[in-house]
Amino acid sequence: MRRTACRGCGSDKLNEFINLGKMPLAGGFLANREAMAEEKQYPLPVHVCWDCGLVQIVELISQDILFKDYAFSSSTINPLIRHFENYAQWLQAKLNPKVVVEFGCNDGVLLEPLSRLGIKACGVDISENITAMARSKGLDVITGYFDEAVAETIAQRLGRVDVVTGSNAFPHNDNPEIILKAAKRVLKPNGHLVLEIMYLGDLLEQLQWDTLYHEHLTFYCLTTLEVLLKRYGFHTVDVERLPMHGGALRVLAAVDPQARSSEKVQELLEHEKQLELSDPETWFKFGRYIGRKIEVVKQTLETLSKTSRIWGYGAAGKATMWINACQMNYIEAMVDASPLRAGKWMPGTHTPIVFPDKLKANPPDYIFITAWNYAEQIKEQESWFKGIWITPLPELCFF
Ligand SMILES: [Zn+2]
Repeated sequence: MRRTACRGCGSDKLNEFINLGKMPLAGGFLANREAMAEEKQYPLPVHVCWDCGLVQIVELISQDILFKDYAFSSSTINPLIRHFENYAQWLQAKLNPKVVVEFGCNDGVLLEPLSRLGIKACGVDISENITAMARSKGLDVITGYFDEAVAETIAQRLGRVDVVTGSNAFPHNDNPEIILKAAKRVLKPNGHLVLEIMYLGDLLEQLQWDTLYHEHLTFYCLTTLEVLLKRYGFHTVDVERLPMHGGALRVLAAVDPQARSSEKVQELLEHEKQLELSDPETWFKFGRYIGRKIEVVKQTLETLSKTSRIWGYGAAGKATMWINACQMNYIEAMVDASPLRAGKWMPGTHTPIVFPDKLKANPPDYIFITAWNYAEQIKEQESWFKGIWITPLPELCFF
């Protein structure tokens, strides 16, 4: 199924700027032979809206397929735990809320530190197994979609709330207006919506085409997000850039249209204007440039593979994108230290994912670092390796 109207402004002038053909789900790591046999591939064109400049994926895959085996529990990842502890403290210092609602609350990784600070926190999430984990910790969690009906239930139980927040969940939603209407219904007139979203400015500057995949759906910058927020009666009052997930934004929006805006909002909007982030031409240029990059990596590694052994390192979504876009069936194994991924197979190419000790036992001639944004750390961890490392971005590099 494909949507025909822009997720931000409703316009039907959506233009494709990159098309990688059919691709597997980037996060669909395969656990066994049956999963390999059943695996499907889906078209992955990426569009930009001619009217508001929003970058988005219009090809829709049902949430049941995307999050069927949702094995991602936030509280098992240390940097994320720290992020949410800091975020809870930031919320308290900035807004001093009494009650907070979080949509996409996962296993309660934010609800927990909020509760510790004495803030009443209620979470909403669609995943049954993950919300069960949150409930077992004594947290107040509703299983379902954060829509107006759920918002009304919360309002009746807890009264109107001070803050509605979502970390990363917002861009994954095909109908962001449902969340915005729900937030409006449950917030006090002086309440705030706080969104943490992957930032398109970092995506452009760091050429992160390999994060443009089905699960992510929408890629916002402040300019395009503001268009959407305004339509549903939210007024942007502050913004911060965050280092997580390759670059993110924390956007603070008020229900009160008279609330004062920080200078940082204007500064970032100005920065985005200079980058021409919401100009569709920027994205057509990006698409052409990335097409050439992929072709160079594909040709170079294919030639190498005829005389040498190549492994990959870092089995994240980015890896799925590179090895499938470049058809790297010759990669013998993909190294990853996470027990959630090692022992499984890569989507599409079915490359086995192995723990780092396997690499030491049988080192190849080359290692292609698919998690190229962590190249330095990976090289340091495997400093014993005497072969050649390869990174694809920002330039194809051998070292
Ligand atoms: Zn639009």
